[in-house]
Amino acid sequence: MSSELQLIHSEVLECTKCELHKSRTKAVPGEGSHDARIIFVGEGPGQNEDEQGRPFVGAAGKFLTELIESIGLKRSNVFITNIVKCRPPNNRAPRKSEVEACNPYLRSQIRLINPRIVCALGTPAITTLMGDEYSASRHHGKPLTKGEVTILPMYHPAAALYDASLKETIFHDFQLLKQMLENTETLYPSTPKSSEPSGSKQTLEKWA
Ligand code: URA
Ligand code: SF4
Repeated sequence: MSSELQLIHSEVLECTKCELHKSRTKAVPGEGSHDARIIFVGEGPGQNEDEQGRPFVGAAGKFLTELIESIGLKRSNVFITNIVKCRPPNNRAPRKSEVEACNPYLRSQIRLINPRIVCALGTPAITTLMGDEYSASRHHGKPLTKGEVTILPMYHPAAALYDASLKETIFHDFQLLKQMLENTETLYPSTPKSSEPSGSKQTLEKWA
């Protein structure tokens, strides 16, 4: 399982499937636990991420780390990635064609990690995972279960960082995330995840 994730990682590092490969310094496949119960999905690497080849390492990343720790977890307990793995020039929004070209990597990561909850950070991640009719402002904190994958949309930490009311909202939504996680632990108390009843496995074609 984890070697398949490593294979995706290696493919991303050499990927030329969209224009974004031309301007990147380093591709950013994602990082964290291969047995994570939560995957966080952001929009795309920024300048710091592009330089270091790691997701969420700038100011927004520092805040995301704080949010993760606010619910008693560490960064190393979760998996963190983006809808596009290479930085769009000047941090422009990723184009639909780029998101589509990159999407198979995200789908494979979700399928292989098989998390309880996929947390979509910001509207681009939300529309990619949930559909074009969804947005952070209207749907944050409202989970949607698609088959056996539960997607929780949230504001992007970069949007919430300097806005007091959004900051309060995102901390509140993280408490919801904590509760959802505790509820799934009640449903499936056995750890590790592999000892769950097989019915709990994600088999949705969308993620296959
Ligand atoms: N913002 C994102 O959406 N992703 C990152 O990895 C960093 C900042
Ligand atoms: Fe490949 Fe995704 Fe990078 Fe485009 S953004 S080059 S599809 S890894």
